[in-house]
Amino acid sequence: MNASSNNYISRFFHTRLPRVCVAVTASDSSELIEKAEALVRDNTFLEFRLDYLPKPALVLPKIKDFTEYHPHVFVIATCRRENNGGKFRGSVASQLEILAKASAAGCQLIDVEIETALKCKPQQLQQLRQKSALILSSHDFRSTKKLEETLEKMTAFDADFYKIVGTATTLYDNVVMMKFLEKHSDKHSLVGLCMGEQGIISRVLGVRAGSAFTFGALSSEEKTAPGQVTAQELRNTYRIERIDIATKVYGVAGDPVAHSLSPAIMNAAMRRENVNGVYVALHAKTMKDLLACVRDIPIHGLSITMPYKETIVSHLDNTDSQTTKSGACNTVVRSQDGKLYGFNTDSAGILRPLERRITIDKAKILVLGAGGAARAAVFALKERGAEVYILNRTAAPAQKLARSARARLLKKSDLKKHTFDVIINATPVGMGNHRESPLNADEIRAKYVFDMVYDPRETRLLQLAKEKGAEVIPGIEMFVHQAARQFEIWTGKPAPWDEMLNVVDRALQDRAAAQTPKGAKTKVS
Ligand code: NAP
Repeated sequence: MNASSNNYISRFFHTRLPRVCVAVTASDSSELIEKAEALVRDNTFLEFRLDYLPKPALVLPKIKDFTEYHPHVFVIATCRRENNGGKFRGSVASQLEILAKASAAGCQLIDVEIETALKCKPQQLQQLRQKSALILSSHDFRSTKKLEETLEKMTAFDADFYKIVGTATTLYDNVVMMKFLEKHSDKHSLVGLCMGEQGIISRVLGVRAGSAFTFGALSSEEKTAPGQVTAQELRNTYRIERIDIATKVYGVAGDPVAHSLSPAIMNAAMRRENVNGVYVALHAKTMKDLLACVRDIPIHGLSITMPYKETIVSHLDNTDSQTTKSGACNTVVRSQDGKLYGFNTDSAGILRPLERRITIDKAKILVLGAGGAARAAVFALKERGAEVYILNRTAAPAQKLARSARARLLKKSDLKKHTFDVIINATPVGMGNHRESPLNADEIRAKYVFDMVYDPRETRLLQLAKEKGAEVIPGIEMFVHQAARQFEIWTGKPAPWDEMLNVVDRALQDRAAAQTPKGAKTKVS
């Protein structure tokens, strides 16, 4: 094959390949083909990880039948050696033999890692290109460094695609990878991404920066690389096939954020309202890393969660009155000139569910807790004219909050002397279990009980409140309303609140069904 026909092949694939390749693993040949058959209706680009099979050569006749039967499906054959992050224990010669047979069996793309290329004769590599396109790949399981050097080393070999995979140890590593793709993708057909939980940005946005495609897992249990997202999530949640240069980037920033429901709810809202935006989870280990990404990606809007709600405030150019009063910000907007504006939509998350049920003015409301969420509640309710009481485990923060918001303090021992219109739980007590409640049954004397905790959907506190005849407001309503307000601030459009509520409801039901292991907590926002 000469150079010009190679360019033609690269261009042919570049224009025809879907953006997401689904990595398929199996413990035997029949399972691999069965999985592939089940996938082809919705996925026309598959990677067969032959190295996961105990005897890869046995699957080749079946692959031949598969490729003949599904000529519209693109297949990559990969037989990664153990030394290079795969599972194949054979020699370089046997790896190449299996790949040559996979090419003869109709796999249109063959993946060979650079370590193998360095050990074989140039003609052995070129033989693989007789019938297939060659993907030369490099994997760094520790960092995203020396990308230029790696590319230089790789381009010493003729290949149709150069796949360079790093590991993100910071969010900014994604920016490094995407700048690299932008710089070189007009000269070479590249595939680039970062592994690791922090690599999500490059997995979703890499294609826009110049990666020919990216990889998705078949399911969350069958990931072939750390941090891999499922192909279904890439397509349905992140709408990767529609991401273009005009797509605005949003995200939830915190540490940790892995269990956040915000990407599901926000991407669903954007899809419903036809907003050209994508929303990702940003596991920020430092504020500096987060702010550098906001500037350089750029990120247009952030949901801020623990532990950054307070520390972000000093980095903002201006804040709304709720943020100024409560000292906590959960929403950031980046303007075109790079200025950052902070909002607190937790107050909307508290007020909107209440407004639908009661007149807040003059209502007698007890807030349990004196942390960030309690502060947002106390200031917002006071501003609306409610009579607010604060009860907290530790006296000092409660006293400070009561003083600054002109609210009243309550001792636990005095609880039974009062009846409230609303009791709001703004502590984490009851999160992730059905046992704990911040109040006993005889301490619940209110018309409404509002629990900010939303996982489980019906907490022990809400069960007790129902038994006492109180109306309950689940934390999911707050979660959806604060997210809806964020959506409105970022897009200027009314939020599809019903759709957002359905998404969170379904996600929580799925989690309950999957029986999240004990102690694993759902992250709020
Ligand atoms: P935070 O700033 O850490 O404050 C926690 C508060 O709860 C503090 O006042 C703390 O009291 C108290 N607390 C913690 N553990 C306790 C325990 N075992 N017994 C009694 N009191 C306890 O947290 P936050 O950001 O305010 O969040 C509070 C809760 O609201 C969390 O569960 C969060 O998930 C939820 N939330 C929900 C939404 C939503 O959209 N539904 C939004 C925001 C927050 P001390 O002062 O004694 O430590």
